[in-house]
Amino acid sequence: MTDTIGFIGLGIMGRPMALNLIKAGYRLAVHARREASLQPLLEVGAEPCSSPAEVARRAPILFTMVSDTPDVEQVILGEQGVIEGVQTDAVVVDMSTISPSATRAMAERLHAAGAEMLDAPVSGGDIGAAAGSLSIMVGGPTAAFERVRPLFQVMGENIVHVGDHGAGQVCKACNQVLVAQTIAGVSEAMLLAKASGVDPAKVREALLGGFANSRILEVHGRRMLEDDYAPGFTARLHQKDMRIVLEAAHELGLALPGAAQAAQWLNALLGQGLGDLDSAAIHRMQARLHGQDGD
Ligand code: NAP
Repeated sequence: MTDTIGFIGLGIMGRPMALNLIKAGYRLAVHARREASLQPLLEVGAEPCSSPAEVARRAPILFTMVSDTPDVEQVILGEQGVIEGVQTDAVVVDMSTISPSATRAMAERLHAAGAEMLDAPVSGGDIGAAAGSLSIMVGGPTAAFERVRPLFQVMGENIVHVGDHGAGQVCKACNQVLVAQTIAGVSEAMLLAKASGVDPAKVREALLGGFANSRILEVHGRRMLEDDYAPGFTARLHQKDMRIVLEAAHELGLALPGAAQAAQWLNALLGQGLGDLDSAAIHRMQARLHGQDGD
C-alpha cells in the first residue's frame, strides 16, 4: 500500500474508479486536462501531476481511462506521454475501450521501454464504477495481471484474465457485438407488438420470464416503453465501440453483418443529432421509420 498509484482520465468512469482507490487507502498521483475533472480528486488528497510523464515518474502502476484509441496513444506515446517517464518494471493499465491492434502495438513500445501493459476495458457503466462492481476484461502477461489484481478488486467484481495483449479489448468488442444487436432485436420486438395492436409493455412482461429474457430486454426495453433515453451509455460511445468492432472485422477479413447493421442504427442516431442519448434510442430510429412515435 506504500506505492503511489497513477490515474489519468477522470471523466464519468475514471473519476469514481479513482475515488474508490483512494477510499481503499491508496495514494494517487493524477492527471487531467480540465481543472473540473481534477478537482474532485484533489479534494480527497490525490496529488496533481502536470503531465502523463510525471504520473509515470511517480507511479510503478498507473491506469488510463480516456476516450478513444488516439487519446490513449497520445497519453502513452505522445509528447510528455507516459513512455517519457515510465519506470522500469512498471505496469501501464489501459481501461479505456479501444482498438485491440493499437493496444498490441502500444504494449510492444512499452515493453521496449522496460514496462508492461495490460488492456483492461470494463462493462457496468458509471453505476458499476461508483459501486466498485465493474466487469473487468484483462489482456496481457500473467505476472503483470497478478500485480494489479488487488487494485482491480477495488474497482470491480467479475475480473477475468482473458488472454495475452489485446484479449481484453477483443472481449469488450464481443460484449458490444452482443449488446448492440440485442438492443436492435428488442426494439424490433416492441415494433412488431405495437404494429399488431398488442401492448408492448405486456409483451415485455411476458418475455422477461422466458428464454428471451436479458438485461437488455429488462433495462433498455423499459427505456423504449417509457421513451426515456437519458444515458446510461451514450449512442456516441456505442458508435465508437462498433467502429472498433468493424475495424477489427476488416483487419481479420471477417463478415459480421449483424454487428454492421446494428452500427448503422447508431450512425443514424448521431446523424440526427441524438448522439448524447442512451443507445437504446435505436428504438426511436426504428419507430420513426414505421411512423410509430416513441414506443
Ligand atoms: P468521459 O466522461 O468523456 O471521460 C474521458 C476522460 O478522458 C475525460 O475526463 C478527458 O479528460 C480524458 N481524455 C480524453 N482524451 C484525452 C486526451 N487525449 N488526453 C488526456 N485526457 C483525455 O468518458 P467515460 O464515459 O469516462 O469513458 C471512458 C472510457 O470508458 C471510454 O473508452 C468508454 O468507451 C469506456 N466506457 C464507458 C462506459 C460508460 O458507461 N460511460 C462504460 C464502459 C466503458 P478531461 O476531463 O481532462 O478533458
